[in-house]
Amino acid sequence: MGRRKDRSEFALIEQLRVSARARGDVRVGIGDDAAIVRAARHRDLVLAIDTLVADVHFPARTDAAAVGWKALAVNLSDLAAMGAEPAWATLALTLPRGDARWVRDFARGFGALARRHDVALVGGDTTRGPLTVTVQAHGFVPRGRALLRSGARVGDRVFVSGTPGDAAAGLAIVQRRLRAAARDARALVARLERPAPRVALGLALRGVASAAIDVSDGLAQDLGHVLAASGVGARLDVDAVPASAALRRAVPERRARHALQLAGGDDYELCFTVPARRAARVAAIAAKLRLKLTAIGTIVVGRGLRLHDAAGHEVASPTGGWDHFRS
Ligand SMILES: [Mg+2]
Repeated sequence: MGRRKDRSEFALIEQLRVSARARGDVRVGIGDDAAIVRAARHRDLVLAIDTLVADVHFPARTDAAAVGWKALAVNLSDLAAMGAEPAWATLALTLPRGDARWVRDFARGFGALARRHDVALVGGDTTRGPLTVTVQAHGFVPRGRALLRSGARVGDRVFVSGTPGDAAAGLAIVQRRLRAAARDARALVARLERPAPRVALGLALRGVASAAIDVSDGLAQDLGHVLAASGVGARLDVDAVPASAALRRAVPERRARHALQLAGGDDYELCFTVPARRAARVAAIAAKLRLKLTAIGTIVVGRGLRLHDAAGHEVASPTGGWDHFRS
């Protein structure tokens, strides 16, 4: 099969281009065979890529603007977890058919988040096939100052941003496995469909956090990646993990809520570790960013994650509770 594009496909990419930001460091953007950007000296270039497949990563009937927002958000979240400042993005869009309205709405959602974070879309490709969106995002950190998963040390405090579990509850609502009052349902589904990548937090954590990861697959699993990469264990207080008011009302049963908060994915919050001597700086960052940052545990000698409740009693891994919740 050839790679010839029809006119409508060029129009799609053009719509997407104008929806995003122009940046002074883009020498050649969409319109030539490849983009040329000006990479700065004394900075490391940070690259992230993520693919969203309809009915695997989002329900196919999801509003196209939400898909556009989320496709960029999940990548900006990965850059945030590295402490990187986003700059450019490229996009590969596979569509079952030429649907001008779907693309216009997709561009609106993508563009709204791109403008918020000063991201220029510098390249794009469209093909025919099952609905799939791949975005690659590029950003910068000062040389050698990226946040890695491997830096956690015994004695560090474990923090999480925001209120984990909301997106998992939103998914349960969309899939009709959970009911909530209309206002709570809207708030929880919005957390699923339009996650706010914690870009400013990632930047503020450079020189403060010893390790960081974004919560895409669930707090317990993602923190587990930090522990494995750092060769340490952690003790985590499940009662310390903050829950939104909407989540507490929608899932009043404590263990079911903990299961969503620890095993539910798609939050795109940051989980990070901070040496005890720098832990006080986290409160100042929270105040400046007006973002909830909560200490939920401690890095310990050993391997893996041990859970306890506020009374100090060991708690089983939440996986069983999550399965039970799935019904
Ligand atoms: Mg990640």
